[in-house]
Amino acid sequence: MSQFALRSQRVITPEGIRAATVKINDGVIEAVLPHNENPGCTVEDLGNQVLMPGLVDTHVHINEPGRTDWEGFNTATQAAAAGGITTLVDMPLNCIPVTINKQALHEKMEAVVDKLWVDVGFWGGVIPDSVDDLDELLSAGVLGVKSFLIDSGIEEFPNMTEEDLRKAMPILAKHNAPYLIHAELDSEDTEPPVIGDSYQTFLESRPKQWENDAIDLMIKLTRELKQEGHHCKTHIVHLSSAEALENISAARSEGLGVSAETCPHYLTLFSENIPDGKTLFKCCPPIRENSNREQLWQAIKDGVIDFIVSDHSPCTPQLKHIDSGDVEKAWGGISALQFGLPLIWTDALDRGFELEEVSRLMSAATADFAGLGHIKGRIAESYHADLLVFNDGAEYLISNDMIKHRHKITPYEGKAVVGEVMATYLRGTKVFENDQFVTGPAGQPLLKGNLK
Ligand SMILES: [Zn+2]
Repeated sequence: MSQFALRSQRVITPEGIRAATVKINDGVIEAVLPHNENPGCTVEDLGNQVLMPGLVDTHVHINEPGRTDWEGFNTATQAAAAGGITTLVDMPLNCIPVTINKQALHEKMEAVVDKLWVDVGFWGGVIPDSVDDLDELLSAGVLGVKSFLIDSGIEEFPNMTEEDLRKAMPILAKHNAPYLIHAELDSEDTEPPVIGDSYQTFLESRPKQWENDAIDLMIKLTRELKQEGHHCKTHIVHLSSAEALENISAARSEGLGVSAETCPHYLTLFSENIPDGKTLFKCCPPIRENSNREQLWQAIKDGVIDFIVSDHSPCTPQLKHIDSGDVEKAWGGISALQFGLPLIWTDALDRGFELEEVSRLMSAATADFAGLGHIKGRIAESYHADLLVFNDGAEYLISNDMIKHRHKITPYEGKAVVGEVMATYLRGTKVFENDQFVTGPAGQPLLKGNLK
């Protein structure tokens, strides 16, 4: 691959935003040079457009193999490229089979061939019946493992009990791999209410207490296992309840390896604005009230929430019950893979965040979490040349015809945002520019043990 360089007045580097010329050689960043220095190769000058690290989205449901009518690697990774995401990590459900053993991981590896437009890592899963397969699954290359503490909605991915967790956590600790937890716990085995099309009833049916209780249980187990010498890296996915923040923060001060993520929908949407019958807004845990949202933003500012990921979780329009507006029956999940950066940047601007901070929350911090922080998520020497060109001042409305994921539906239709992804480079290859995909599916699977 030939050498080339990208020059901008605003390059986001680990040391901050500065004018620089980034020299790329064979897919890798060879040097970050002073702006005016001649790199000795072709230079593309981006002017004042921002050159930033490609996003690393560690929470994406692609559902292939098995549920390709919901999504698939080709469409999901195209949407990723269009959104400036150069690395994503796929969830172990809702594909068939669920990725709970080595064999299922192999089936997934066969399913990705020639379909990846960005680099893709894989989370495994652990369910009560698969604890014995966990050691082998982690050795086979997954970056970590996920479990639910409540019904996942997928029959073949049942939740773990406290007893199961006690068996799984030392194995995760041995592999130094993150343990991702869907943290909702219905301690009282509540009878589900009749929800119909009412968003408010749906919201009340998944109270903050479920999240708080699940997180307290995970903190307790992480502490107990640490006392026994097992340092489990417990991670709370898609945190919605701001009430849990205090205990997460305290656990961390105590030296426990507990981290947390949240998602654009919890940070940009709020329940007071969600009309009844609008099933596109349904996800679990639910989008809560505006005051809760502001507390989540504060937690990001304070560093209690570590990073922001999409939790892109699509299904067919039929399963989403778009036409009937039946919130109760609708599949829970938000589809918006490619819009994460403009959504977050728009709201972050209002709250006084700098673009470097948004970049860290969506690239470096997520790359570090997934064990990819030595090759992904930063514009620095010897890192993969995964880059995005961002027009941070472009203003527009999100419309369904922009969508690159499989089903052209999203709760953000009509939303005004700031910031547009102009081009995306994957390991030095331009894969997206001016709303067009270029070159071809140049992505690679990322397996632990083979990350360089
Ligand atoms: Zn998810």
